[in-house]
Amino acid sequence: MAPNDCLFCRIRDGLIPAQPLHRDEHCFVLQDIHPQAPVHLLVLPNRHVATVNDLQPGDEPLVGHLFTTAARLAAEKGIAASGYRLVMNTLGDAGQTVFHLHLHLLGGRQLGWPPG
Ligand code: AMP
Ligand code: ZN
Repeated sequence: MAPNDCLFCRIRDGLIPAQPLHRDEHCFVLQDIHPQAPVHLLVLPNRHVATVNDLQPGDEPLVGHLFTTAARLAAEKGIAASGYRLVMNTLGDAGQTVFHLHLHLLGGRQLGWPPG
């Protein structure tokens, strides 16, 4: 999919209104539009990467940055101590619906395991 057709690229570029909670040179953070927990944020690379399968050698710092950003947001949201879940759904069996890589940060309630 060309980034022009990608929902999250369009949000990144300001073509769809949104208020990112955070932006830096590598990533941005959105409030999930259909939250599944009291805290449900999405941490996204600025660069269009469709799925985890499309990550390349050399992307390790980017992926690490998504995680450290999520950890910082968890602290800011007050759920670092109570706990939270970081999830990247990948393709059909995982239920991925938007094909621009994103790390879900879920917390603020007891989360079930295993996931459905
Ligand atoms: P996934 O199913 O893992 O691909 O996750 C996609 C997530 O994006 C879902 O949790 C949706 O609720 C969320 N989502 C879809 N559209 C928007 C939007 N415009 N702004 C914020 N989150 C969105
Ligand atoms: Zn994209």
